[in-house]
Formats: sequence, C-alpha cells, structure tokens
Amino acid sequence: MITYAHLTEAQRELLRTAENVANQLIPVAAAGTPGRVNRPLVAALAEHGLLGRMFTADGVSAMDLCLLREGLARYCTEAETALALQGLGSAAIVRFGRPDVVAAWIPKVAAGTAIAAFALTEPDAGSDVAAMTLAAERDGDDYRLTGEKIYISNAPDADIYTVFARTGPRAITAFAVPGDAPGLTGESLTLLAPHPIGRLRFDDVTVPANQVLGEPDRGMSVAMRTLDLFRPSVGAFAVGMGQAALDLAVAHAAQREAFGRPLKQFQGVSHQLAEVAMRLQAARLLVHSAATAYDSGAGPTTQAAAMAKLFGTETAQFAVDVAIQVHGAAALVDDHPLAHLYREVRAPRIYEGASEIQREIIARELFRAAAEH
Ligand SMILES: Cc1cc2nc3c(=O)[nH]c(=O)nc-3n(C[C@H](O)[C@H](O)[C@H](O)COP(=O)(O)OP(=O)(O)OC[C@H]3O[C@@H](n4cnc5c(N)ncnc54)[C@H](O)[C@@H]3O)c2cc1C
Repeated sequence: MITYAHLTEAQRELLRTAENVANQLIPVAAAGTPGRVNRPLVAALAEHGLLGRMFTADGVSAMDLCLLREGLARYCTEAETALALQGLGSAAIVRFGRPDVVAAWIPKVAAGTAIAAFALTEPDAGSDVAAMTLAAERDGDDYRLTGEKIYISNAPDADIYTVFARTGPRAITAFAVPGDAPGLTGESLTLLAPHPIGRLRFDDVTVPANQVLGEPDRGMSVAMRTLDLFRPSVGAFAVGMGQAALDLAVAHAAQREAFGRPLKQFQGVSHQLAEVAMRLQAARLLVHSAATAYDSGAGPTTQAAAMAKLFGTETAQFAVDVAIQVHGAAALVDDHPLAHLYREVRAPRIYEGASEIQREIIARELFRAAAEH
C-alpha cells in the first residue's frame, strides 16, 4: 500500500490519470522504433491532455511534472520519456525565451506537433559541461554556430532544440534552434534502452539574436535552472520504475513456490521487499519535497534537486535488481517487463548529472552553507 496522504486530492487524481493514460498507450509505445522519436506517442500524450498539463502560465510546475512522470513510468516508460523530453527540451524556452519565440514553439510542443530537445552534452564535455567547445560567433544581428553535440535525447528528429554554445572564454549562451536550420545535421544512436537519442553537427548554423534564451553569456544559469526543475522529476521517473518492479516482485513472491511454500514465506525474500518498499517511499517523499520547494520559488533548490535525483535513481536500480533476483531466470527472458526495466533504469544514474556529480553538488552546498554561518 503506497501512502500518498501528503498529496492533495487534485494531485492524487493527476497521478491516477497518468497511470491510466500509460496503460492505454502501451500499444502505441510498442509500435515505435527504438532510438527514434515516436511521434504518434507524443501526439497521444497531447490528446490525453498530459502534455498541455505540463505547462502552466508560469512555466512548468515541478510537482505536476513529478506526478506525471511517476504515474507514466509505472506502466509505460516510453510514454514517460516522450513526455519528459518535451518538457526538458522546451522548459528554457518557456522561461527564458522572447515572447515571439515562445509563441512560435510552445503551443506546438504542448500539442505534440513539434518535438523538443535539450542539447548540452558534447563529445569532450559531459559531466564537465563548462568545457563545451561548440562555438557561437556574433555576426551582425545573428550568431553562427559550429561544433558538435552528442547523446541528445530526441535528436536528430526534434523540431526545436535548446542549444548551449560558447560565446567567450568564460561565457556560454543558450539558443532556440529549429531542427531544420541550414547546416544542422545529425544521426541517431542505439542505446541499451529504447530511448530516442542522437548526435548533432552544427556547420555554420545561423541563429538570429532574438532566439537567445535569457541574456547573452548567461546560458550556464539557464542550463542550471532547467536542471533544478528537471532533476527531481528524474527521481520521480525512477520511483515509478522502482514501484513497477516492486509490484511485480510482490506478486511473484506470493504465487511462486519453492521448497513446498510460497517465496514470500522466506524471510530472506520478504525482508528484501520490505527494504525496497521503504526506500522507494523515502525517495518519493524526497522527490515531492524538492519539487514543492522549486514551485514555492522560495530560493535555490539545487541541493534538494540533487538529493531527489540521486536517491531516486539509486533506489530504483536497487528495486529492479532485487525484483529480478526474486524472480530468478524468468525475469531475464528478453521480453519480460523486468528485463525492460533493467535496461531503462540504468541511464538516469548518468544523465542530467551522474550520481557522483549529484554528490559533488550536495557536498558543495553543505560547505557553502557552513561557511556562511
Ligand atoms: C539516455 C541518455 C540521455 C541523455 N540525454 C541528454 C540530453 O537530452 N541532452 C544532453 O545534453 N545530454 C544528454 N545525455 C548526456 C548525459 O547528460 C551525459 O552522459 C552525462 O552528463 C555524463 O557525461 P559523460 O557521459 O560524458 O560522462 P563523463 O563526463 O565522461 O563521466 C564519466 C563518469 O566519470 C565519473 N565522474 C565524472 N566527473 C566526476 C567527478 N567530478 N567526480 C566523481 N566522478 C566523476 C562519473 O561516474 C561519470 O559517470 C544523455 C545521456 C544518456 C545516457
């Protein structure tokens, strides 16, 4: 029994809606091509009202995003990822874009007719994003972008990219770049999970200055604010997957017999499941606490976001691993739901800052707060 007593009725309803929609979208997700954007799936998320639900007049609600991601992840990881990537790719446009850029793209992203992506990582700048080399040179009223991005979710199929580029030795600028901009090319990559992802090449791509997001040279702050919003929701995605794994393990342990009794009667099994349930609920509360703090606008939530992402993703990995152990060989058959979750659960411990980077952030904030006292 999961306790959502701390949520409002409207929040519990949103979670239930996401779970119901996820169940309906399983066949649409299954019809997609691994590694590529599944446009019918994105359109279906919009038709069910979930994409539009992600955007409010003030931007993106962190708590709603977390509830949508947890609910979708529990029953359909592909639908979860399709929704999350629309948000990740467009959140900086919503919050930092000029009104005409917002008007040109956000209604289409919310309607599922335009695909969005967030392009930060480069071949030689992953965890150390400040080492990026993709260059944006000023040319009159335009910028000209040259360089490469890699491991960009939704690339190269996206219609609009939030792109971070170097505009000075210590300066990064964020841009909204249409996918059909001349000189922008790319190719898809195939990962362990069916996640849509690829590489982008910018060969002297012209971007008008009014497509800068936020202030020129202040792009690192645009990236960090976007990650403060999205990191708790990566934790929510993970909690949804972990819950799915626990549900499967509990059902299996109740019916599978060994040595003449159900597995659940072995304490070596049941106590592992108790541990998973406890850690998942702790992760859920950490996620909801970080999201609520972000939505309150009370101040920087970087440390809370890092804790939620770190604990959520590490807990989900543990949950899936325990669930597979409890199932034995059956869970390793390729089309078993746990084999799918095992593939899906790995990447969130790496993207949007690996677990080690989250610990760096938490520690940095600890010492900064101590120094201020
Ligand atoms: C499925 C998936 C989707 C992604 N989607 C996007 C996207 O949409 N947009 C985007 O811009 N990027 C995306 N990425 C890229 C992702 O953000 C990077 O992979 C991530 O930031 C890590 O960079 P890296 O892979 O280059 O690892 P590296 O930076 O090479 O680091 C490798 C490992 O070294 C360790 N490490 C690094 N630095 C430290 C440190 N300071 N202390 C301790 N240990 C450290 C960590 O264990 C880390 O995992 C995605 C990646 C994946 C797998």
